[in-house]
Amino acid sequence: MKIEDIPESEAAELERRLLPLPHELSIHRKVVISPADVGISAPHAVPGAANRLRDLFMENAGVEADGSGFRIRIEIDRHRSLGALNDVPNREQAYLIEPVGDDELIIAGLEERGVIYGVMTLCQLLEKGFGRGTVTVPLATIVDWPDFEVRGFWGGLPLTFLPQMASLRMNQFECPAWFEAVPDRGLEVRMTGNLEDDPAATEHWSRPFDKARQYAAEVVPGFFHMDFWERRCPGVAAENPQIVGKGESAKGGFFKEKGFRALCASEPRVAELLTEAMMTVASWGVSGVCVWMSEFPGSQCECDRCMEQGQFQAEVRAAVRAWREVREKHPDFTMNVFFGAGGFTPGEKWIPDYPPRAMDEILADLPKEVRMCASMGVRDDVLQAFAGRGGLVNRCFIVSQQPGNYCLGEHVRTRMRQLLAQKARGISQYWSDWGPVADEALDFQLSALAEFSWNAQGRSTRACAESWATRRGAAEPSAYGAWIEIMSRMAAESSSMDEFIRTASWLNELSAVLVGNVPPDAYEGVDVAGVADDRKWQMLEWSKFFDGKRLRLRTEMIVRSAVYGATNSTDQSIANCRAACETAKRLESAEPGAYAELLLRYCELEKAGLELIEDARRPDGIGAFKEAMQRFMSALAAHGDVGEAGVETLERAYRDLLESVDGG
Ligand SMILES: [Zn+2]
Repeated sequence: MKIEDIPESEAAELERRLLPLPHELSIHRKVVISPADVGISAPHAVPGAANRLRDLFMENAGVEADGSGFRIRIEIDRHRSLGALNDVPNREQAYLIEPVGDDELIIAGLEERGVIYGVMTLCQLLEKGFGRGTVTVPLATIVDWPDFEVRGFWGGLPLTFLPQMASLRMNQFECPAWFEAVPDRGLEVRMTGNLEDDPAATEHWSRPFDKARQYAAEVVPGFFHMDFWERRCPGVAAENPQIVGKGESAKGGFFKEKGFRALCASEPRVAELLTEAMMTVASWGVSGVCVWMSEFPGSQCECDRCMEQGQFQAEVRAAVRAWREVREKHPDFTMNVFFGAGGFTPGEKWIPDYPPRAMDEILADLPKEVRMCASMGVRDDVLQAFAGRGGLVNRCFIVSQQPGNYCLGEHVRTRMRQLLAQKARGISQYWSDWGPVADEALDFQLSALAEFSWNAQGRSTRACAESWATRRGAAEPSAYGAWIEIMSRMAAESSSMDEFIRTASWLNELSAVLVGNVPPDAYEGVDVAGVADDRKWQMLEWSKFFDGKRLRLRTEMIVRSAVYGATNSTDQSIANCRAACETAKRLESAEPGAYAELLLRYCELEKAGLELIEDARRPDGIGAFKEAMQRFMSALAAHGDVGEAGVETLERAYRDLLESVDGG
């Protein structure tokens, strides 16, 4: 056994192996020892945690780790931990790693969860430390805790992602659940396919979710939006006709298309059904449930009681009544109420918010143990004020999903820091378009979520990328860091590009302005704050293209374009993209380079589009635009993440544009 000092460069390398970055970390010395001489003991800790470490020694060195030369002791040790962990946030998940002399390293926490996270951290430090007949154990001193108590996903993620995300400390995986009224058996609760469609993994990750607990994570059923019950929960409305919402205004925005309708939530049967369903999932051993309120914020059952209480107040009351009843039998059972606006009427400008009065009343009455989860439809300042009063708030809109977009890392970091300052207790991300587990950009996005939800202030996005690349075994992690840093400056452009791809952006409307076809209410709702006066006219020109449907999204883009026009930074963006393409040549994978090129072509297209708008009648303007469009579409076709349908949409819009110009 040798004790050696660790030079600074090696300490930095060790730090890069850790994702997420621990809050307090110092590593100055290391032990180099035969793996057979290392012994792992876990006198007062969960066996699962110790087994993870033992497995690491078995896989890398083929030994049992029951030696006596150097001891790794894992324990739930209140006495030892209290000094260091008493005052840290979320201390039930906190842990401590510290050397005792030169022949022992202790991992301790106040609770099982903390100890598990401590073991995960030590595993990350040791993974690359196995050599021929030796293992290097850094004598690290670490005090660590998560910034957010809940770090997870809502709306379901594929089973195959769970182990990966749980080993990065994401700790809550919500799985959508629905009900079926089965004759003679009552209400049965079913989880959606996400957790049940992989036979190999089902054994561990489905009920009773033992595997998740070994990662200090949990699976929480999320009961479908109440206005989905009638259509999506077989037999439930037929067996209980009294729960169907009354009158025209109970029908949601999608009633015609999907049959979604608010329940008559003040009807006692709704609370009874919720009680039955909660009792069922509590018997599975889950710690709690999330109840999704009606998705469409404009619904209202027209019966007298619901009118008096308010639709959403009645829904929350039904859920709270059920939860209180379940607590009589399962005193620790938790509940989240979830608001996520959606289901807007086709043709409407935007999904409305939930009625402000309803939110005020709900938050004023919410029991202090019940968590308020919100994605859209609830005002930010209302949630902030509630969190400021000590209310438990989970924010469920972190970033909008953008397939293939590495720059999301920077968005995630900014958002986490903001939500931490706003005293949110949990964060939960929605993802609908899961790629393959091996997808590099997706992997980076998810790693950034794990990094910044654990430690929002610790690393830059660049350092996060370097850690991520190190863990993937990249030859030159710093090149990834340099690339991400350039790309992070381009975060605004990249999100616009994704909007462009998804919605065909301004292209469809460009032809309209070129032929002078301007809708009469074009300026409505356009916020011109922050735009230089001499550029407002240009912004308003752009705003004329709007059909209103995606007004907010597109307004952002217009404002941005106008501001960029004023500061001339389209050229700066193009220069950044060129630098990113150059840097990408140093990376092993082709994906980042292709992505940077796509962004470059997008920026060139924006520039050409702006110039075209400036002077639509300039004879060579359309030629330059056509060229930029062609280059952008080639890059788009070459970029594997963009579907053929997207390219087709653009090509069609482009053809229409050319026709309208030639014709005009
Ligand atoms: Zn009613």
